[in-house]
Parts: sequence; C-alpha cells; structure tokens
Amino acid sequence: METTLILLKPDCVTKGHCGDVLQRFEKAGFRIRGCKMMRLGNEILREHYAHIAAKPFYPEVEEFMQLSPVIAVALAADGVIEKVRALLGPTDSKKAALGTIRGDFGVDVMVNVVHASDSLEAAQVELVRFFQPGELFE
Ligand code: ADP
Repeated sequence: METTLILLKPDCVTKGHCGDVLQRFEKAGFRIRGCKMMRLGNEILREHYAHIAAKPFYPEVEEFMQLSPVIAVALAADGVIEKVRALLGPTDSKKAALGTIRGDFGVDVMVNVVHASDSLEAAQVELVRFFQPGELFE
C-alpha cells in the first residue's frame, strides 16, 4: 500500500474547500494516516519546491504558499499517488476538466488548491519532510 503527501494550499484553506477536497479523497477510498496544519517557512518551501526554485515565478509561489497555514495530509491506498493526481487534474487549473479538484476549485497554474507527490520516491522524501515519525498512523 502506498502513502502520498498532500498539502491543502492557502487558497483551499482560505476559501473553505478543505472539507470538499478531503471528502473526495475519502469517497475514493483513501485512508488518512496523518493530518496537521502548519505555516511553511522559506526554508521548507525551497526544499519542497527545489525543482522550480530557479524559475522566475518562484518568488510568487513562495509568497502564495505563505498567505495562510496549509494542511498537510498523509493519504494511503493502493496506487494512491497516481489516483490522487488523476482526481486533481493538471497543474494549470484552467486546463483541468470540471469534476476534477483543480477544475472545480482552482484559479490558475499557481493557485491550484492541492499539492500531491508525483512519484513513490518523491512521496517518501516529502512525508519525512512534513511529518515526524510519531505523527503518522497505520
Ligand atoms: P505540480 O504541483 O502539479 O506537481 P509543479 O511541480 O510543476 O506542479 O509546480 C509546483 C507548483 O508551482 C504548482 O503546483 C504551482 O502552484 C506552481 N507553478 C508551477 N508552474 C507555474 C507557473 N508557470 N507559474 C506560476 N506558478 C507555477
């Protein structure tokens, strides 16, 4: 069984979409193994977004991710990494189909509701980044 790292981003938190998003995950059969609210500092953001840290739009992403606390969630299911990303839709909310989370609640390529790990390797690194061992449950 896989576990993936989800972040409910500031737009999700401030617009009150957390319940809707978590309900979609639970209805899809994903199990919550951990959940916590946290403010993200520059350091953890630069680690988490190392692959885009050199892009011209990165400062804007850093600012966006600090507009409010985020909610980190560890979700488990068979094939959950791919399944969550299918429920989300593509990065750009404007290109996401209605019925997907980003299509229904997202604004654009940056303000896109939820982060989800994109591979097993990424999930393992990201879960350790956001959760202490005692904060994840079976
Ligand atoms: P994903 O989150 O879908 O895996 P990426 O890893 O490519 O996408 O990008 C990380 C995050 O950076 C995106 O979720 C989005 O919030 C932001 N982002 C990506 N591309 C852009 C862009 N061209 N302009 C502004 N923000 C972007």
